[in-house]
Amino acid sequence: MDPVPVQLQHKQYFISYINKETPDVSLFRFEARDATKVDFRPGMFMMVEYCDDSTCTKLSRAYSIASAPQQNFLEFLIGLAHGQFTSHLDTAKVGDDKYYITGPYGQFAFTPEVNKKVLFLAGGTGLAPFMSMLREIKLLGSDTDVCMLYSIRCPNEIIRKAELDELSRQTNMKLSVTVTRPQPGDGWTGETGHIDADKIKRLVPDYAQRTPYICGPMAFSKAMRDALIAMGVPTTDIKADIWG
Ligand SMILES: Cc1cc2nc3c(=O)[nH]c(=O)nc-3n(C[C@H](O)[C@H](O)[C@H](O)COP(=O)(O)OP(=O)(O)OC[C@H]3O[C@@H](n4cnc5c(N)ncnc54)[C@H](O)[C@@H]3O)c2cc1C
Repeated sequence: MDPVPVQLQHKQYFISYINKETPDVSLFRFEARDATKVDFRPGMFMMVEYCDDSTCTKLSRAYSIASAPQQNFLEFLIGLAHGQFTSHLDTAKVGDDKYYITGPYGQFAFTPEVNKKVLFLAGGTGLAPFMSMLREIKLLGSDTDVCMLYSIRCPNEIIRKAELDELSRQTNMKLSVTVTRPQPGDGWTGETGHIDADKIKRLVPDYAQRTPYICGPMAFSKAMRDALIAMGVPTTDIKADIWG
């Protein structure tokens, strides 16, 4: 029988899988020994605590959930920023169990049965909550109509490229990746430049009929919000998760 989904209160997890996605971003999968399934909506985040009694270290950071609610583990896409918390993740290994997770939290929640036509605007690791949403759409077999514009600096920064290509085939998602710092010889033939109002209008002509979701660093999220407002999208319709 499937475990009943729960909310977590400082529950111990171990790292069961690590994958280096790009030079600066890794995927971390956390599992509980009892295969707890967490009750959350895609778009929400968890507080992850690193706790090492031997060095009296206790650090906690917020991370958007990248896995789907249907899965028996939690995945996060984390930019290895060499900060206090991420320095521990830099050297983390499969089996490490000094992690305690609490949550979920947040209003940036998505329900495929309700949000049938959406515009996802992702910047860098801001892809994380959208991976959760897209994975749920696929697992539920939902026909939610998704247009996603995903902004990265260089072609080698595309996170989960193979899975995104597969999701484009398996779901009703149209993905446009845009590279903001293309270099001669990097082989990139796709879209370039920042996402702005003109790019949204050109790539997503029916944007006005879609619920917009924004996730990424503060500067990205603010630019996306300003662009949408300038295009006449009501502020109350814009859903944004800002990490700054
Ligand atoms: C709701 C929410 C969801 C989030 N989801 C995600 C997510 O899915 N993925 C993700 O990667 N992040 C996410 N974040 C950000 C995350 O919580 C952390 O802030 C981030 O991982 C950095 O933590 P840190 O302790 O390593 O950096 P901190 O030590 O807190 O440092 C903060 C910043 O300062 C910089 N810095 C630190 N020390 C130095 C130094 N000596 N010199 C120069 N710069 C320095 C770091 O590079 C870092 O960018 C989210 C934040 C929020 C609020």
